[in-house]
Amino acid sequence: MADMKKLIEKSNRYLMSTYKRFPIVLRKGRGCRVYDTNGKEYLDFVAGIAVNVLGHSHPAVVVAVQKQAQRLIHVSNLYHIEPQIRLAELLVENSFADRAFFCNSGAEANEAAIKLVRKYSHDHFGPDRHEIITALNSFHGRTMATLTATGQEKFHKGFEPLLEGFRYIPFDDLEALEKAITPQTAAVMLEPIQGEGGVRVPSPDYLKRVRELCDRNELLLVLDEVQTGIGRTGRLFAYEHFGIEPDIITLAKGLGGGVPIGAMLAREEVAKSFVPGTHASTFGGNPLAAQAALATLEKVLEDGLLLEECKEKGEYFMERLRELQKEHEDIVLDVRGLGLMIGLELARECTPVVEEALERGFLLNCAAGNTLRFTPPLLVTEGEIDRLIDLLHDIFGRLS
Ligand SMILES: *Cc1c(COP(=O)(O)O)cnc(C)c1O
Repeated sequence: MADMKKLIEKSNRYLMSTYKRFPIVLRKGRGCRVYDTNGKEYLDFVAGIAVNVLGHSHPAVVVAVQKQAQRLIHVSNLYHIEPQIRLAELLVENSFADRAFFCNSGAEANEAAIKLVRKYSHDHFGPDRHEIITALNSFHGRTMATLTATGQEKFHKGFEPLLEGFRYIPFDDLEALEKAITPQTAAVMLEPIQGEGGVRVPSPDYLKRVRELCDRNELLLVLDEVQTGIGRTGRLFAYEHFGIEPDIITLAKGLGGGVPIGAMLAREEVAKSFVPGTHASTFGGNPLAAQAALATLEKVLEDGLLLEECKEKGEYFMERLRELQKEHEDIVLDVRGLGLMIGLELARECTPVVEEALERGFLLNCAAGNTLRFTPPLLVTEGEIDRLIDLLHDIFGRLS
């Protein structure tokens, strides 16, 4: 007991207060379960916020990291890197893209995408055409450029002046987008499904129409798949659901199965604007991270089994949440999502629900203040989903 309390005291003493943390220290994990330093078990419906697609310490990832650590942990991108090459090949052969660039996080992947948009537009249309249109309620990261791309004032406050050249439109509003396009517009950058914004799924034909608008105006379409990518929605990439191909996508969260790695993928014609010297990352796609990603991706793609299961379990999960909504109409406003990226919008703040769930051995996450966001490992079972539904029935029953 003292162990955990002492650790938390030191955490509060030595770390910058950038996170509002729940009062537990997690030490161990297997599959969909994690354990704190007191040995208490939690069923994990957060999974590092859509990171641990294969659950915790999946043997395929563990073995890949162990072997690679013994062979070679890091070498510079001054040289060709074997796992990075194999990873790029696998991503390219399973997507619209022709080339990959690797970095270490979602923000960096988006930063790279923003730079590629500017460079491409500069190369083809001259220096004045550099604006990027993004959506309100979006989330693209915390670096200065991705913070500016993020269409939420609460994240901007205190960090002005922001970067020049961004314009915001309401998500899922085609007319607003059409009106926002000017001769200076270079690209449209969107999450296929808004994650931090509260799991917002656009109308079925929205992205198709956005693609058409981009084509008509010679704009690049950048999709931020940092959260939706790597099987989360039941397809390897979320754009596959919408019958379109983007020009650029960014990846990170699920890509390394828990090991930090980010990627930006692009079509050949666009990728061409990056040449030696235009962009780089010391750790980007280093042997250890790339090998972890390779193991994760191979597992996700294996027979397409995991993707099929993700789709089925997602449907089961949503169905059970809709039943829950019917019984607790005063508390549950909406159920939405795709695959295993699911939001349950409540008529109230969801932090008290998350706190009680924690107490009772469940890790839950809250997005946009009032939406419970479920992003469990893709391996979550129907039995585990049932346990969560029982818990929510119980909590909501006492709340109303
Ligand atoms: C988490 C997230 C990011 C930022 O990723 P980091 O690895 O935290 O920099 C960017 N875009 C989306 C859609 C995300 O969900």
